[in-house]
Amino acid sequence: MTSNPIIVWFRRDLRIADNPALTEAVNSNRPVICLYILETETDRDLGAASRWWLHHSLNALSEDLKGIGGKLILRTGQAFRILDMLIEETGADAVYWNRRYDFDARETDSAIKADLTQREITVKSFRANLLSEPWMVKTKTDNYYKVFTPYWRAAQDSIDTTDPLPAPKSVPHYSKELKSDPIDNLALLPSSPDWGSKMRPYWTIGRAGAETALEDFLAGPVSDYPDDRNRPDKENGTSKLSPHLAFGEISPKQIWHACKRDLDKARKFLAEIGWREFSYVLLYHNPKLATQNFKSDFDAFAWDNDEDKLRRWQMGQTGYPFVDAGMRQLWETGWQHNRVRMVTASFLIKHLLIDWREGEKWFHDTLVDADPASNAASWQWVAGSGADAAPYFRIFNPFTQGEKFDPNGDYVRKYVPELRHLPNKFIHRPWEAPKLVLLEAGVKLGENYPNPIVDHKFARERALAAYKATRE
Ligand SMILES: Cc1cc2nc3c(=O)[nH]c(=O)nc-3n(C[C@H](O)[C@H](O)[C@H](O)COP(=O)(O)OP(=O)(O)OC[C@H]3O[C@@H](n4cnc5c(N)ncnc54)[C@H](O)[C@@H]3O)c2cc1C
Repeated sequence: MTSNPIIVWFRRDLRIADNPALTEAVNSNRPVICLYILETETDRDLGAASRWWLHHSLNALSEDLKGIGGKLILRTGQAFRILDMLIEETGADAVYWNRRYDFDARETDSAIKADLTQREITVKSFRANLLSEPWMVKTKTDNYYKVFTPYWRAAQDSIDTTDPLPAPKSVPHYSKELKSDPIDNLALLPSSPDWGSKMRPYWTIGRAGAETALEDFLAGPVSDYPDDRNRPDKENGTSKLSPHLAFGEISPKQIWHACKRDLDKARKFLAEIGWREFSYVLLYHNPKLATQNFKSDFDAFAWDNDEDKLRRWQMGQTGYPFVDAGMRQLWETGWQHNRVRMVTASFLIKHLLIDWREGEKWFHDTLVDADPASNAASWQWVAGSGADAAPYFRIFNPFTQGEKFDPNGDYVRKYVPELRHLPNKFIHRPWEAPKLVLLEAGVKLGENYPNPIVDHKFARERALAAYKATRE
């Protein structure tokens, strides 16, 4: 048996618990080198908010590894070259990793695996970030599922119900000192301006923060989740686990396992984890999910990609308070509530007739949970161009959605403070408020808060006509 070191290549699995690649390496009793590569020359760079999160998450992983005798080595460059250099430097004869599923990453991993295997370097890959592999759950006709409900019914039968792996107690040390790029050299944090520091108070980044968020959520809010999940005004209505999942600080298996204590109570919540799994099925089978309509009849859609309107949507200046609150929540915290994501996305696509891909790009750049599968699949879902999508003609009304899901206007008041003195009756539709009411609330439409960027009724009819035109 060899005593050469094993490289564990961390990617979107920045945790020490339930990390099969790490555990397998540790169990071999050979020295373990823990590596993270900030990959260059990839098809799609990480968005700015994701880079910010990554900085803190790597710091947290580094501390966790230190606590069990390991050390995180950071390098920047092409994965292929970095691995090559490290193998040369250390005599490692095995590389372990947990699988990833977007096309670019899969191509990279397959090429590396083929090359290393040919050079008699062992490569082992593991399932760690999904409950079941995207190719596993098949229909009776041996196809992948394109509709969520039957998918999730079938998927639950194939879920691996073994316990999640505990964090290793110690990592066998690799004795030679290895060069590691100082984290600041990775330049992941924004500098001028430093918009990252305003997001910091909202999050406890890293494995420990993820585990606490899960525990706290299961200790209470999960009971009201079926109703509260639609209420952006309720601080703990949802788990806010998405960025932790996106970076693999916690695994879906850990979540599933924790929910087993009371599966009935957690059923709705677990179904959302199911949507994440389903999104990965769609991405795996449709590598261009972020750029290509799943339903090709949408290719003929006559988008009106107006730069100024896109900018106003991005900045939360549309004149529709619920939409603006959502876009400003995103800017302020790096996250946006799911109900609001559906409304803001629908507004961009249907009220402004801007191509869903512009919205996908903005979310990719600004969300701390930006995920190659969930983001693309969800944008296509809202657009109506996706698998099992909302029909295009379902056009969310941006003010009645606000009245239903933010009935007292608390969410709007938090993120659109210039409207905070408006009475509830007008908080979601300030343009209907009498002049005196506006005056008393200090709101000057067109001056300190915009008039609606487009009339709702007109926009709705225009969107339906544009859709109809694609079918003629
Ligand atoms: C236009 C649009 C873009 C989106 N982009 C992303 C994205 O980039 N990354 C992302 O993780 N989610 C995305 N979502 C899905 C969803 O909005 C977020 O997962 C959710 O808001 C995260 O908050 P939470 O962790 O509190 O969710 P919870 O309600 O607590 O749900 C638990 C977990 O289930 C998963 N989940 C929940 N809803 C969905 C869903 N509809 N689709 C897929 N997975 C889901 C997430 O991993 C989430 O953390 C998007 C939705 C829309 C409408």
